[in-house]
Amino acid sequence: MINKSLGIYIHIPFCERKCRYCDFLSFSANEGKKKKYVDALIREIRASEFSGRKADTVFFGGGTPSVLTAEDTVRIMEAVRETFMPDTDTDGDGNGNAPEITTECNPKTVTPEKLAAYRKAGINRISFGLQSADVKELKLLGRIHSFTDFEESLNAAKEAGFENINADLMMGLPGQRAGDLMKTLEKVCDMGLKHISLYSLILEEGTPLADNIAGFPPLPDEDEERRMYHEAVSFLENRGFHRYEISNFAKKGFECRHNLKYWDLDEYMGFGIGAASFAGGRRFSNTKDFEEYVRRYGGQETAPRSFRKAKGTVFVSPEGRHRTVLVYSLMSEFMFLGLRKTEGIRSADFKDRFGEDVIDIYGDVIKRQTEEGTLVRTKEGYALTERGIDVSNYVLADYILE
Ligand code: SF4
Repeated sequence: MINKSLGIYIHIPFCERKCRYCDFLSFSANEGKKKKYVDALIREIRASEFSGRKADTVFFGGGTPSVLTAEDTVRIMEAVRETFMPDTDTDGDGNGNAPEITTECNPKTVTPEKLAAYRKAGINRISFGLQSADVKELKLLGRIHSFTDFEESLNAAKEAGFENINADLMMGLPGQRAGDLMKTLEKVCDMGLKHISLYSLILEEGTPLADNIAGFPPLPDEDEERRMYHEAVSFLENRGFHRYEISNFAKKGFECRHNLKYWDLDEYMGFGIGAASFAGGRRFSNTKDFEEYVRRYGGQETAPRSFRKAKGTVFVSPEGRHRTVLVYSLMSEFMFLGLRKTEGIRSADFKDRFGEDVIDIYGDVIKRQTEEGTLVRTKEGYALTERGIDVSNYVLADYILE
């Protein structure tokens, strides 16, 4: 189903210190630089060519959004509300659902005062970057927080009235065995979380971890990593977290509506440096250059951003901004993003969107993958099998149209 309301992504590129594995667009900054950025960001939001369109999800990502002052976060939310959510009591889509408004937080940088201000600003979902409950693993990754920081922040978030809370975790760390990951999961899964994201560590060229990997314990091999994933899936499902996407698990009704927009190929607008958008049938993205961004949106000038066509666009994938993928067409994206969801894709949605039958475009791939046991026919379309999920990188690549 095509969702007519927009998702809004706000990029906050600041972090207190760079983690060892990180190649996201993030850096440390003084208060003056942050202020300059927030002013430009607000100006960019208010000048959006899509103002007047309704939004029903907002996601503050980064970087570390929680390094901003509460006042700055509130100011940004006011701009988003006035531009995309003029009806404050509903999201304007007529179904009465409140918008989902998420902010990512580092457990070290939230305070009860900030959390209270978030609530007041309408933020109703918190996503903590925890990554691991193990002190050695946190140190190896270069995270600035401890597990105790997470426990305290989580309690403070609950006390502030947040119910919808996610923790991001990582697997496939140097020296990590399946048992280590299970210890982290055992610690966190009974803490009242509603959502858990579990991504594999990706060694990104140029990061301190990748450049010095020989100095760390060996990475788990492919078999060990698969074992970790399978044990994690069955453990989480036994504890009531159902897997709705390859790397995402939620209690019923707490699936992340914003991320579902990416996997469903719904429209979203990204604001801030490097932010990608997909709206009005176009994909486009902002400059990654801080000074250029502030120049462009910091003054009176509100120059249009540069547009790039969908074909051959390099776009930031929704899977947590961890990697970039080459996209050849919207049909390809529809398939390889949609098949990441455990429910898969609906043939009728493909037809609605492209006016073609999925089988006419992808008949050969579908036939081969079904025979190989990596894809299965569902009531309404197609989904990956467990074996397909195990080799999803290869299986999904088959949907790229040359
Ligand atoms: S991993 Fe997250 S918290 Fe760490 S430096 Fe990168 S953006 Fe910041």
